[in-house]
Amino acid sequence: MKPNLTWAAKAGIGFARRHLSSIIIAFVAVMGVSTVIAYVISRDDQTQLRAYVWATRDIRLVQFALLDTQSGVRGVVLSAQPTDFAAYVRGVSELNNAEGDIFKDIDDHALSQNLGETTAHPVTDRIATLRAAWSQAVILAMDHESDQAETVLTKAQTSQLMAQLQTMIGGYLDYRSAKVDADWRRIAAEQNLILLINLLGAIIAIAATSYAFATSRREAKGREAAIGASLVARREVETLFGMTEILQSAATSEDANAVLRATATELLGDFGGALYVFNNSRDRLDFATEWGASGADAPPLHIAPDSCWALKRGKPHLNGRGEQALRCAHSDCSGTAFEIPIVARGEIHGLLILRGDSLRDAETLKRIQPIAIALADAMSLALSNIVLRERLRNQALRDPLTSLYNRRFLEEMLERLTTDAERRRTPVSVIMLDLDHFKNLNDRYGHAAGDLALRDTAGAVLASLRPADIACRYGGEELAILLPDTTLEVAVARAEQIRTAIGATTSNGITVTASFGVASMPENCSRANELLPTADKALYLAKDQGRDRVVAAPLRPSADMVQLTHAGWNLADKRAGD
Ligand code: GH3
Ligand code: MG
Ligand code: MG
Repeated sequence: MKPNLTWAAKAGIGFARRHLSSIIIAFVAVMGVSTVIAYVISRDDQTQLRAYVWATRDIRLVQFALLDTQSGVRGVVLSAQPTDFAAYVRGVSELNNAEGDIFKDIDDHALSQNLGETTAHPVTDRIATLRAAWSQAVILAMDHESDQAETVLTKAQTSQLMAQLQTMIGGYLDYRSAKVDADWRRIAAEQNLILLINLLGAIIAIAATSYAFATSRREAKGREAAIGASLVARREVETLFGMTEILQSAATSEDANAVLRATATELLGDFGGALYVFNNSRDRLDFATEWGASGADAPPLHIAPDSCWALKRGKPHLNGRGEQALRCAHSDCSGTAFEIPIVARGEIHGLLILRGDSLRDAETLKRIQPIAIALADAMSLALSNIVLRERLRNQALRDPLTSLYNRRFLEEMLERLTTDAERRRTPVSVIMLDLDHFKNLNDRYGHAAGDLALRDTAGAVLASLRPADIACRYGGEELAILLPDTTLEVAVARAEQIRTAIGATTSNGITVTASFGVASMPENCSRANELLPTADKALYLAKDQGRDRVVAAPLRPSADMVQLTHAGWNLADKRAGD
């Protein structure tokens, strides 16, 4: 069964990990202290044992001294030999040398045996009695009174006293010997215990040191990895800073796209991606740029905002693989994609898409999300600045009511177009148009209705033009249209087309008409600055002739025209539907 670690055990392991070095120091300290204690105890034990050994030897000496004295006395009493007397004297002298403590200990032990002793000093008293009897007997024997000496010895019961003393001293020695054995056993047990403590301590210290070493090696590796990661992160931040700085100088969205491509390739080289930007009417996102494309799946040119989860939620979204994955309707099913809305100043400007094509990529895509989001953030400010700049430029160039270019822009463009036309020897035409009886309309329906009619008229004009044509609000309800590479004939046809379109337009039930004057260079005039006044004159002719019509300016003399053709001017018809 899998061991079930209780909360307490887990807490214990956690504590041990956190305080590993303290625990190792504690173990080593315990080992040191236990060794010192062991040394002190064993030194005391040995001192005590040595004292025991010496005391035992002294007791044995007393035993021998008693036996020597007794045999000396016996010899003196029986034979009165000088050698026996010498033995007696040596025995007495040894008894005199014996320390009093020894006799006290033997007395105490004898009393502890509860042998019915009547005196407090059973051994000392017996020795004293013996010594007195032996001394008296020796004196009598030296005086050749052997019988009396014998009587003294018998009367004093010296043999019995000696036997009792031998028993008592022997018992005391046995007691001491048993005590010494017990002490030896205790010392051995103590030494084993200390050995065990030291051994255990050493094993635990070695294990803890190995663990600490392994941990510190692991931590060193972790630190190394962290340093590596922080270096990578630093490089990424530096690259992003560099990108932000360069983006500040990006004047157009093409510039910004180029910076994004370069930075994304450097930071997220493993992943291809694409950028989509909202169109002017903000009803769809248009493809802006892509990088690292595999070429297998061409990115869609447009994305509808309501087909994208990232745009709907206003948050990054991962289009994962598998049936469970929540995928945007615009994304194909072949791979994973991380999509980030590009938001700045509270407005979504576009969508950044990073593409991967395997399960591994899904994981990596999740890991690189912070960089991708930082990339989108850097891009968002650039895009919003470009949009802002574009708006400001449009405000300076365009008329706010009709969204047509203003008169300043018209004059600038007219200059450019006529210079270019002269260089290339191609025609340029101008259509001037003025709404008919517009004052009346204002008076009748109000200025707001007039504004609306003016705006719708501008819309009808724009819808009838080619991308190269430039429509401007010249002033009030008067518009001018520049038509590059267009002959007078084509321009007149185009003016007719516009006139019909205006006549077919109703705004709030109101229909307006307009009068047109058309002039062309070089067919009607030879210089650029004559073009607008010539068209204006034709317009007045149209007004004079009854309004709601197109009038072309009069052609230059035919000799001029022949010269122009010889000079290489291309005055062949340009088709109105170019
Ligand atoms: P016609 O050109 O046919 O001779 O008659 P008209 O009534 O249009 O005469 P005119 O061109 O002299 O008058 C222009 C009028 O257009 C005067 C002005 O009230 C009106 N108008 C000019 N600009 C605007 C505008 O921005 N909004 C509105 N509602 N009216 C404008
Ligand atoms: Mg008018
Ligand atoms: Mg007018």
